[in-house]
Parts: sequence; C-alpha cells; structure tokens
Amino acid sequence: MTATHELTRNQALVFNALTKAESPLSAYTILDRLRDDGFRAPLQVYRALDKLLDYGMVHRLESLNAFVACAHPHCGEHGLIAFAICEKCGQVSEFSDVVIEEQVRDWTGQNGFKPSKTTVEIRGTCASCLNS
Ligand SMILES: [Zn+2]
Ligand SMILES: [Zn+2]
Repeated sequence: MTATHELTRNQALVFNALTKAESPLSAYTILDRLRDDGFRAPLQVYRALDKLLDYGMVHRLESLNAFVACAHPHCGEHGLIAFAICEKCGQVSEFSDVVIEEQVRDWTGQNGFKPSKTTVEIRGTCASCLNS
C-alpha cells in the first residue's frame, strides 16, 4: 500500500492524536483528546479508526483494546505484524517478521485452517525499563 490516502478532517485528527501519543490510546481517550476539535461521540472516533485501520495506517492492539499509529511509512506491505508491549511504561514496538509469518502460513495450510487475522502481541518489559 504505497498510495497516500486522502484523509478526511476527522481521520487526520485521529491519526495525529495517535502519532503524538507515547503509548496506545483507547477510542475513549482519543475522544477526550479531540473534544476541543469538535468530537462529541465515540462513533466519530470509531468511523475514523475504521478507515485508518483499512488503510493500514493504524493498528489495533487486541489485548489492550487500544490503537497505535503504524510505525512503518508504507504499512500494509508487511504481512504479519507483531507488537512488543511494555507493561511498565506502556511503550509499544511494532515489527514484522517473515519467519513467524511463514510458520503461521505453514501450520494453517497443513491443518486446513483459513486464517482471517493473525495478531502477535508480546507483553513484558522493554529494554529501557529493564535497565532503569
Ligand atoms: Zn504497521
Ligand atoms: Zn518500558
């Protein structure tokens, strides 16, 4: 997905809120931060998030029920995305790994399982928290 997407005002506001955030944000936190910009209802946030998720510009962290801006400029090109979530500072690192992706594909293929979505979330302590 190399095309840049025309974002609506609301989509751009939500995306900027996520880009500026140090850690993942829930839809309600996004709503709170955008009240001054005219956001009033969770649905406005969810609509914008839906599109941003579609575009691959934002990812949903299942275990936190929160959202992060994609760390890659041209996301959607990477297949399987993994997230390392620090439980101390809340920082999230995104990476994609072809080996994990291949193993998931091998297993699902061999077992006749049709995956619709694969989420890898590693929870623990990040390097800087470990060292402090
Ligand atoms: Zn990404
Ligand atoms: Zn940390």
